Amino acid sequence: MSVADTALYDVLGVSPSASDKEIKKAYRKLALKHHPDKNPDGAEKFKEISAAFDVLSDPQKKEIYDRYGMEGLEGGMGGGGGGMGGFGAADIFEQMFGGGFFGRGGRRRGPPKTEDMKHRMGVKLEELYNGKVKKIAVKKNELCETCDGKGGSEVRRCTACNGQGIQIQLRQVGPGMVQQLQSKCRDCRGTGEFIRPGDRCTGCSGDKVVVKKKVLRVEIDPGMATGENIVFRGEADQAPNHLPGDVVIVLQQEDHPIFTRDGDDLYVDKELTLVEALCGYQFLVTHLDGRVLLVTSEPGEIIKPGDVKCIRNEGMPRHGSPFTRGRLFVKFTVAFPPAGTFTPENARVLESVLPPRPKLPAFSPDDVEEVHLHNYDPSSHAHTGRSSHAHGNNAYDEDDEAYGGAPGVSCAQQ
Ligand SMILES: [Zn+2]
Ligand SMILES: [Zn+2]
Repeated sequence: MSVADTALYDVLGVSPSASDKEIKKAYRKLALKHHPDKNPDGAEKFKEISAAFDVLSDPQKKEIYDRYGMEGLEGGMGGGGGGMGGFGAADIFEQMFGGGFFGRGGRRRGPPKTEDMKHRMGVKLEELYNGKVKKIAVKKNELCETCDGKGGSEVRRCTACNGQGIQIQLRQVGPGMVQQLQSKCRDCRGTGEFIRPGDRCTGCSGDKVVVKKKVLRVEIDPGMATGENIVFRGEADQAPNHLPGDVVIVLQQEDHPIFTRDGDDLYVDKELTLVEALCGYQFLVTHLDGRVLLVTSEPGEIIKPGDVKCIRNEGMPRHGSPFTRGRLFVKFTVAFPPAGTFTPENARVLESVLPPRPKLPAFSPDDVEEVHLHNYDPSSHAHTGRSSHAHGNNAYDEDDEAYGGAPGVSCAQQ
């Protein structure tokens, strides 16, 4: 399950995939523990718990929260506000995370998140078939451990903005009308803080964050496909007063030399010789997990070029139920023997066992015109309106003199 923000779940100590029942249970337990009647110091905590439950127990609010985080709820709560009681979840959030001046303007009240980091990861078809754990190293900002993300030994309040991070200018726009302009404080770049050079942390030079390399274990499940996302919640850049965004790994299947994939189905090309196509075949397919499949024709089976057959349950495993598999399709082509392979005797033997050739209608030699078929290579000629279609033009049907010494250059319009 993918949610925009887990903070409310964290308040109740449940995972975002928790059922309604589990959420209710967690709430009851915490509410009992922190109820102000029982626990005079629990008032703040009790408010947080109640606010979190208020959202998570309401299917509509929960859906908005899961999708957009606190930002989404804020808009919805502003108008009616009826269901939220004396305090809104967003207000509680502001208390929990210390104000809402970060990020985009002052309107936003939930804790901002750093940007998600997307990585495209190439995967082999074998890895998508069998499943695989791949490691990926990402570089990201982490809060400096030397100064705990503070930036220095003594962090002072920025005097230019009085620690607000923003500067407000009032501008008279008409008689008795004043416009309030808000901008990020230039002295402290919106941080509200000032650190003297001598006080700056040596670990991060006052930046509060340092670049670290982190190795993530990407678990590829059998049956995953191109475009699928694997999300590492909270593994993107850290920043002071921000929740870290997510690292999102986007899978991209690499081409396979033998198999192609279409959903749960696999395709493989197989070229048979004419003998195999007519008299039976047997061939081996090494599958993506290393098993070797033996494919044998049925007695009397004849394969035509372009025939497609399928093997059930030898396709890709279905993601989530890996024992259900798609189909493995075999697309056949037939390699005819090269020209000149048959002597006239061979041809007579072959003809004696093949079905008889169709009989020509009766004609008199005076009533027909004899013509010649030439080889035609579509790639070497511009197509003209009156094209000739040659079928089965094997070289031994050919009239040598028709080539005029230029093989392949024939069937051009004269
Ligand atoms: Zn530091
Ligand atoms: Zn400032």
